[in-house]
Amino acid sequence: MTKLSFYGAAQEVTGSCFLLESPSTSSGQSTKILVDCGLFQCPKFCDIRSHDQFPFDPKEIEALFVTHAHVDHTGRIPKLVKDGFRGKIYSTHPTKDLAELMLKDSVMVMAKEAEREGGEVPYAEEDIGRVMSFWEGKNYHEKIQAGDFAVTFYDAGHVLGSAMILVETGGLPAGKAGKKILFSGDLGNPANPLLNGFEKVSGAEVLVLESTYGDREHEGIEEKKLLLERVIEKSVVKGGVLMIPAFSLEKTQELLWEISDMLRKKEVPNVQIFLDSPLAIRATEVYQKYYSYLNKAYVDKKSFSFLNFPQVHVALTADESKKINGAPAPKIIIAGSGMSTGGRILHHERRYLRDPKSTILFIGYQAPGSLGRRIQDGADEVMLFGEKVPVRCRKETIYGYSAHPDYAALFEFVREKSDTLQKIYTTHGEPKSSLALVQKLRDNLGIPAYAPKYGESVEI
Ligand SMILES: [Zn+2]
Repeated sequence: MTKLSFYGAAQEVTGSCFLLESPSTSSGQSTKILVDCGLFQCPKFCDIRSHDQFPFDPKEIEALFVTHAHVDHTGRIPKLVKDGFRGKIYSTHPTKDLAELMLKDSVMVMAKEAEREGGEVPYAEEDIGRVMSFWEGKNYHEKIQAGDFAVTFYDAGHVLGSAMILVETGGLPAGKAGKKILFSGDLGNPANPLLNGFEKVSGAEVLVLESTYGDREHEGIEEKKLLLERVIEKSVVKGGVLMIPAFSLEKTQELLWEISDMLRKKEVPNVQIFLDSPLAIRATEVYQKYYSYLNKAYVDKKSFSFLNFPQVHVALTADESKKINGAPAPKIIIAGSGMSTGGRILHHERRYLRDPKSTILFIGYQAPGSLGRRIQDGADEVMLFGEKVPVRCRKETIYGYSAHPDYAALFEFVREKSDTLQKIYTTHGEPKSSLALVQKLRDNLGIPAYAPKYGESVEI
């Protein structure tokens, strides 16, 4: 039997890491592969568990397959290499480029935090160079052989280059009867116009399924656009600043595209947009490079550009960032981090949270304990840079910009596979969300579903 162990994202949303072991041969040989090796992220971005020893020997891992570039799926890879991993790392080409950017940024953020609050950083920037030397980009649908496993990437529609990973056990090319295990990775929100949405993959018997929003419904594609339009209009009329804390990957590009499009079509009043995040600017350049991966029905090549739009201003350096303060309101500021746990958005929040004319717009999941969640939950004041800042601005939330599917889309994703599925493991969700999804899948589809805990192993 193949053994599957859950070493992260088990009844929580970060630290994705799954180990597959093929049965031992008579000589004691077995293949071990990993799917993802992500950072555990607490609101302060330094969860101590990311420093822990791996519960397996990294030297014995033949290959690591990466679903996508977010650090909660990649952030422990440098530690894996530091601890002895010498196998191959595989992902799609855009994921490889984006992961390098994300890892470098993550090291910088952790180093700054360690300097401020003590503690150590699990790896340094030099380690990322070594990581990249093991890393090989692959195309969607290309079959990769790793010992007893055959692995294929399929488009997950979550961020540029994101993939579901189908693992076939049984030792190809010997062709022995095996099982098909599908790791959903993080799936996309079908209402995301930039990407192609998740592909159909058939034949899986076991599904390891994300459940970030296993208990929630999002707004649809038109509804979310309308909500955004209204938020921008109100904000411009009030003459304030619209702050959008946004993840650098995907949300920023989707927002930039959507707002530029509204400005082009004069659906909203003229307003300047400031993109205040070096990582987001670099990631946007990768989107431009891999244009062919985007949704061609929506993104028109002739007019396609995220950054060369007259109203869009980018701030790469700290000086350019400071200059945004001098620009007259109304204005829109898009900056990281997406949950206000760090990054340049904090400087803007210190300035404008107290301003009743300004607005803060949340466009996705805010983890419990994060500053974003506290503001969203109605805190009267928050601490920023050691200063008490009253929260008097307007607060808005649009869930439709989430990069994850809602319950209805997740359910449909599973339903179309229900003929072959024998077991589902829900991962990458808070317990409430993972367990709610388990219940709904059991009740409505009759497929055994289970939300594993950290460190659990199952036989397949
Ligand atoms: Zn993700």
